[in-house]
Amino acid sequence: MNAHEREIAVVGSGVVGLTTAVELLGRGSPVRLYTRDVDSPPASSVAPAMFTPYPGPAPERFRRWTTAAYARLCAVAASHPESGVGVGKLREYFYAPRKAEPWLGELLHAKDLPRREPFTAIIDTVRPHVDMLRYLPWLRAEFQRLGGSLIQRDVAKLDELLDLGHTRVVNCSGVGAAVLARDPLVRSMHGQVLHVPNDIGLEYSLHDDAPGGLVAYVFRYADRLVVGGTFDEVREREGTDETSLRAVVERARNLLRLDGHPRWRELATTILQARAARRPARGVANVFEDIRLEVEDVGPDRRIVHHYGHGRMGVTIAWATAAEAADACERALRPV
Ligand SMILES: Cc1cc2nc3c(=O)[nH]c(=O)nc-3n(C[C@H](O)[C@H](O)[C@H](O)COP(=O)(O)OP(=O)(O)OC[C@H]3O[C@@H](n4cnc5c(N)ncnc54)[C@H](O)[C@@H]3O)c2cc1C
Repeated sequence: MNAHEREIAVVGSGVVGLTTAVELLGRGSPVRLYTRDVDSPPASSVAPAMFTPYPGPAPERFRRWTTAAYARLCAVAASHPESGVGVGKLREYFYAPRKAEPWLGELLHAKDLPRREPFTAIIDTVRPHVDMLRYLPWLRAEFQRLGGSLIQRDVAKLDELLDLGHTRVVNCSGVGAAVLARDPLVRSMHGQVLHVPNDIGLEYSLHDDAPGGLVAYVFRYADRLVVGGTFDEVREREGTDETSLRAVVERARNLLRLDGHPRWRELATTILQARAARRPARGVANVFEDIRLEVEDVGPDRRIVHHYGHGRMGVTIAWATAAEAADACERALRPV
């Protein structure tokens, strides 16, 4: 037997690929992870990130994944505080009428605050906050502890991994799936954020629903705040730009002001870093999270499990979709 035959090949070392690899390794399956960039996967190393489920997948999947991922992230927060996953309060301001999902409100311990103009609702929830500067290294350390091997490789075609002898390949290549899976539904949504010190003593995270077309948020982590954001599908340039970031700070200060924070004017007077990346989205029109989780049969005893298109919620939902991708790998192993 070729050494690669036993190993599952995972493509991509973003949060989706790493979580899938850790899930497979935890179930006893050997994994070899191939990635273009080992240390800074494009979207995952830039996400702030908050537990933000978006209803892109079909309703039943959305509920199942959201519920499972919430439980898993809360468990990681409880058992591994060093992972950068914590659970805390997010206050959301809604200008537009919203369609509330009762099960989601219950899951997130939603509490309605007294309504006031110009908002249609103000809601406090409790949800996982994931500090990606700590969480990605923690996931990589878990991967290594469980015996995974990591190969730096720019994969031109998924077939080349089958040619190496792998019988199962999990495609977690994010935006790269546009080429690797020749998928016309893959889109990329450029986003920019600022990391700033919490020198204003903010005690909880804040978010609004985009009165001027772009949401404002200030997420609170142990040693800093992350301020956002932008959402740009047509942008051609990579990186950050001053004009967008100035507008981000203005919207975030306004959000703090509306929340009654006494030091709203001082937010982001010092900048730790400005970051930008493309969210790996999938779908048409206003759907950005039509996640592809599907087995492709590519010949006798050879399967590709496609697992990409997490858009704005890869950090949120990865444990749930990774568990189902791992189930699909295990099913693919059985004789057909
Ligand atoms: C500004 C911003 C804010 C965000 N906020 C949140 C949030 O609050 N909550 C949340 O849940 N999510 C958030 N997201 C979205 C989140 O970052 C993504 O959904 C998630 O990181 C996607 O992970 P991924 O592993 O699919 O993609 P990526 O992190 O992009 O990783 C893809 C991997 O595939 C590899 N790859 C691609 N092509 C190839 C190839 N041909 N050969 C080898 N390797 C390849 C890449 O090198 C990389 O390692 C945000 C994103 C941004 C940019």
